[in-house]
This record gives sequence, C-alpha cells and structure tokens, in this order.
Amino acid sequence: MGTTFGQSTVLGYPRIGGNRELKRIVEDHWAGRIDADELATASAALRAQVWRTLRDARLGSIPSNTFSHYDHVLDTAVAVGAVPRRFARLGLCPLDTYFAMARGVDAEPALELTKWFDTNYHYLVPEIDDDTAFTADPQKALREYHEARELGIETRPVLVGPATLLLLSKSGTPGGRPLDRLPELIDAYADILGALAGAGVRWVQLDEPAYVGDRDPAEVTALRDAYARLCAVRERPAIFVASYFGELGDALPALLDTPVEAIGLDLVAGPGNLRRLAGAGPLRGRTIVAGLVDGRNVWRTDLRAAVAAGAVVAGLADHVSVATSCSLLHVPVDLSVETGLAPELRDRLAFARQKVDEVVLLGRALRDGGTSLPAPPPPAPAQWRDDSVRGRLAALRHSDRRRSAYPQRAAAQQARLNLPPLPTTTIGSFPQTAELRRARAEHRAGRLDEAGYVARMRAEVEHVIRFQERLGLDVLVHGEPERNDMVQYFGEQLDGFAATAHGWVQSYGSRCVRPPIIHGDVARRAPMTVGWSTYAQSLTDRPVKGMLTGPVTILAWSFVRADQPLADTADQVALALRDECRDLEAAGIRVIQVDEPALRETLPLRRSEQQAYLDWAVGAFRLATSGVADGTQIHTHLCYSEFGAVITAIDALDADVTSIEASRSRMEVLDDLAAVGYRRGVGPGVWDIHSPRVPARGEVVEALRRAAAVVPPERLWVNPDCGLKTRGYPEVEASLEHLVSAADEVRVGGPVGTLPDRP
Ligand code: GLN
Ligand code: ZN
Repeated sequence: MGTTFGQSTVLGYPRIGGNRELKRIVEDHWAGRIDADELATASAALRAQVWRTLRDARLGSIPSNTFSHYDHVLDTAVAVGAVPRRFARLGLCPLDTYFAMARGVDAEPALELTKWFDTNYHYLVPEIDDDTAFTADPQKALREYHEARELGIETRPVLVGPATLLLLSKSGTPGGRPLDRLPELIDAYADILGALAGAGVRWVQLDEPAYVGDRDPAEVTALRDAYARLCAVRERPAIFVASYFGELGDALPALLDTPVEAIGLDLVAGPGNLRRLAGAGPLRGRTIVAGLVDGRNVWRTDLRAAVAAGAVVAGLADHVSVATSCSLLHVPVDLSVETGLAPELRDRLAFARQKVDEVVLLGRALRDGGTSLPAPPPPAPAQWRDDSVRGRLAALRHSDRRRSAYPQRAAAQQARLNLPPLPTTTIGSFPQTAELRRARAEHRAGRLDEAGYVARMRAEVEHVIRFQERLGLDVLVHGEPERNDMVQYFGEQLDGFAATAHGWVQSYGSRCVRPPIIHGDVARRAPMTVGWSTYAQSLTDRPVKGMLTGPVTILAWSFVRADQPLADTADQVALALRDECRDLEAAGIRVIQVDEPALRETLPLRRSEQQAYLDWAVGAFRLATSGVADGTQIHTHLCYSEFGAVITAIDALDADVTSIEASRSRMEVLDDLAAVGYRRGVGPGVWDIHSPRVPARGEVVEALRRAAAVVPPERLWVNPDCGLKTRGYPEVEASLEHLVSAADEVRVGGPVGTLPDRP
C-alpha cells in the first residue's frame, strides 16, 4: 500500500485482438483444431500484445486480468469458487468446466446470458445456490499478473467487485437473495487480495457498476460493510473501486466511509458525479479516477473541456488519475486501420487505441498544467446536414404519431387478410446457411455481380416461401437472406451512417458485432426492402410480412452522434422507416413488422430517467408506423428480456400485433400485458429458438392453451420466440410443423393435456 496510482489509466481494453484473434482461437479450440496448450499460448500472446500497446503508449497504470476466454463475470465467479454443482459434478478439467458453463454441454444447459447493464455486451449470470461454498481461486489473476511482470510491465488486476457480482447473480434456490451471501463472499475476496499482495500486486481494481443503478439502503450498506472488511485485510494491495455507466449516488458517500484508496467515477455518463464529489467533504488520502474519456462511444474527446473537469476533481482530491469512463471493451480496437472512412469522419473518431492516447495526454496536461492540447475537430461538415429532414422534423405534429382507433383498424385488416383464429407466423429470418453467407461475402467482395447476387437471393426467398406454404403457415416472411446484421443492413442504405471495415466489438463469447456509426442527419436514399418483399409476395397468395428494424433498435446497435439528443436522431430514423412503410404498402404489402428487440435493453439504469426515454422511444416507433392506412397491419417484435419495466410502453407502441419472447417464462408476459390493458393482437413465443431443442407438439399445445386462457382466439397469434437465422433447417421444419398443428388443435378446441407428437 501507499503507492500512488498512475496519472492515467483505462478501466479495461478490448480482448478480442485487432483481427478478432480471440474468436479464431477459442472457436478453433471448441472445434478440436487446437488443444488447451495451444489455446493458452495464443491467449498469452494476445494479452502480451495489449500490455505492450498500453506500455508503449505510456499509460500510467495498466490493467490485467481483463482478458477472458469468454466473459469477465464468469471469470470472477470462477475466481471465488461459484461453480454451480451441476457443472462441478461433470468431472471436467477446469477449462472444460469453464466452457461448459459458458456454452452448455449435452447434459447441462449453459448459464443464462444477459445484457451487461445498458450495453450490447452480454455476461453469464452466475448461479448462487445455498450450497455454493465460496473459495478463493486466484490462479487466473495471478498468472496474468506474472505474465505481464515477465515482460517488465507492472499491472493492476481487475475483478468484478463482490457486491456487483452478487447483484448480477441469480439464486438457484427459489426466493434466495444472492446478496445475503456477501459476508461469506468477502472471505473469498479477502483471500484473493492476500494472494495478490503476496505476489507483489500493488493495486487491485474491483468493479462495482451495479451501484450506478437504483439500489436500496440495505444494498448500499452492504457495499460499505464489504469494503470496510476488505480494507481491514492485513496484507493487501491498495483497492481501487471502479464505477461506470452513470452516477454512483448514495454509494459514493458509503464508499468514502471506508478507507478504500481510490474510487472511479464515470464523468461522461454521470456528470452529476462531480457535484456529488464536491459535496462529499475532504478527500484526503484518496485517489479519484476520473472517467473523462467516453469508453462507450467512438468520438474524440473534447480535451479542453475534459481538462477543465479534471481540474475540478484535482481541487477536491489528493490525487487524480484520468481514465476512460468504463472499460474500452465496448469500442473497436484501432481507428488507424480504417483507411476507407471519409477523412472528415475519421478526424472526429477515436477507438480504443486512440482513447489510450487521450487519457495519457489528459493525465499529463493535468499534472503539468498548460500542456498544449490538440484543438478539437472543426464543426461538422455541411454535407452531413440535411435540411429537408430537419424541416420535416420541425413540422411534425401530434397526429403524425397516431393511427385510428384499434377496432376500426382491426376490422379493416381482417377484411383484407381474412386470417383464421390463432394465425401462425414466424419472426422474420430463416436459417442462414453457409452457402448464403458465402454469396453475400462474394457479392461484397465484387466477385459475384449484382444480377447473380439478386438471382441467388431470390432463389432463397422462393425456397423459404414454398417451405412456409408447405408447412401451412398463415402469414409468411421472405426470410431475410440478404441481411447479415439487420442494423448494419439498414445503416448501409441510409445517409448519415458509416460502416467500418474492422470495427468489431465483442457481443458475447466469441461473437462480435460491427456497429455502424451515425454521424449525420439520417435520410433514406431509396426504398430499402421493397424489392425483396414484393418479390416474395409475388410468389404467393398468402400475406407476406414486410420486415423492418425499428428506430430504437437501430440506435441501440449503432454508435450514435453525440451532438444532438437521441430523441432527434430516433425521429430521423423513424421518418426514413415511415417512408419505407408507405412504399411497402403502396407495393401491395399488407402486413409490416417493425422489430424493436432493443426497446428494453436501452432503458436507462435509473428509474428517474426511464420515462423520458420511453416517451421518445415510443414516439419514434409511432412516427415510423402510423403513416399507413387502417387496413395495413403493423406488427412489432420484442425479445431478449423481462418486459416488466416497459410493459406500458409496449402497449403505447400501438402495434396491431406484438410478438414477444415468452416460452421460457411460461407466458407470464401475457398477464403483464393484460394488467396494463393491452387489447390488441399478441403472439407469445411458443418455441424457444435459443435452444436447438425441437419443442414437442404437446408442449406447444399446452403453451397455447395457457395463452388462450388469457387472450381471446381472434387476438392470439402463434409464433416462435425470435428469428430463425441461427437454427438449422431440420429443427426448423420439425418445430414449425408442431407449431402449425398445435395451432390447429387449439383452434378446434380439443382436450386439455399433453398430446403425442405426430409421427
Ligand atoms: N426479424 C428479425 C429476425 O427474425 C428479428 C431479430 C431480433 O428480434 N433480434 O431475425
Ligand atoms: Zn427477437
């Protein structure tokens, strides 16, 4: 203890490698192409690369243990012995046990995967049972610390903090509260701290982001008690408690009540942290790690403004270190490889590597004062502005977000569509075969010409239409073969968006995404989906659903501009979608689905900010979808979450039909919808498409009967939980067969109970 914290730091760095090496090595290992030793060697090389990069950039304090073979929450769970018995008893070696928890094995499904706060990263939810015996297993952190030391690099191991770990966990015992186990868990953390100190570690970083959300007083007290106890450990490194993604609120005074040596505050997402800090009294002996460089977005920092904020912190605390607002896990690795971007955009961007330079510069400027800082980029170029879009936005009226009353729409739609009760449909995508992916890649690379590409995709659309007709589905889809990532697909066709070539960001495990960058006013150059949808419709008499991605989801899965409110950007996207809906309608498409799977995940962490978000989110969706006639049926689709907090907003979207993930929660969402007075069509998912399992016909019948008990048949739809693009055709065929015949069964009202599968 007693060592000063470096002048600058990052809370974490991308671990996927500049060329997604992590993806390659873990997938090679899973496929048996490389063994555990080869995986270990390749992983060590990736880590060494990151440490050298950070050292060469002259970063003041360098983190370690931010590498992960899959997920850092799982790593911390393993480090405290929270391996559920169902995995421990498989008798696998540690690495295989780890991957079994991450990905599941035949005998055991994986840990649940869920969103890391309001980011697009997904973590594995630790399972804490009554018989979970916490024991320290600091091997990974120690190994990485030693590895870096061998390179001559002193590092600061990072772990998820004990309170956040439990707040993110779920209990294997009904009614159990993982946080009640905090006192025992602290013993394991104390042992880890002891082991780290013994190895020479001087600083450790414990992440407590759960405390930027609403926490009750007992939870705040638990945090204080936890750190008071950890600080009492005799031989320990200095403790840096990091918070990020917002304001720490009451947890800040609670932490200041303990002797922790450093506290990290996100001054980008939580500017109020500064005010709170100023009111906290003297910060003698403390280091404040000031998160001044946005770790979640891709824009260059206004360095002069950041230095000014840093100087305020410096006036309050004994020592200030300049940091990123959160781990750089959430941004692409390096801008310097993006040679295809327009220079006026590139000049405004900073990816992880560039953000490291920013914190280093800021740290120096704060220390030395007066260091000349690079000027901020010039004002945005005129061609990014679209006055016609701005004019349309300014002229919007309330009525532009309203359709007629639902009964009137429902009657007009039924007259046009003539659907049976319990209509069957799917969510949009069909299996994406290797061949399809190859065709898209060849087209992108210019080896398959436009005509050849269109012919190939049309053949696929025809195949998907015939397949659905054969199975007897009522409302068909074209299958989305032309889309890889849906947000990327729309981003490529809209003005105001830019795509990177290598801007990959980890989504979960080995899965990475390449979010587009919204830099200017958004406008539609030409119809985006009409060609595919009308081609599909030309092949069949059954209605084909047009398939669009909603404004909230497009924003959630992009990097957004920081120079105007999100609400305005959302409305610009909505106007483009509104025009698309009208074009689809004019081309004879009678049903249009506008997906909003990200509606829940973008919800602000603090309740006090949620209503404002939901207002603009709902407003943008309605702007996108209310330009069509009564007889055009608007669907929406939501998935990936519990919907409790947004259920009123789902009703407010005013879609004619809402398909929603429900199979795993056994249709509970229907009661929630009924409770807020939702009275329009609803398709609770009756097939969990996240699992390769084919649902038995009887299971689907039972799910539908449960649903039919709450929703009348003319409003009840039958569909899977989500799109089918990650599934294979054999399971899709068997599952959809069960789904269609179960719908038949429930339509005629057979006996309640489990029915045998069709041969
Ligand atoms: N229409 C999209 C699909 O089926 C919806 C994707 C999603 O909900 N994430 O793939
Ligand atoms: Zn979905």
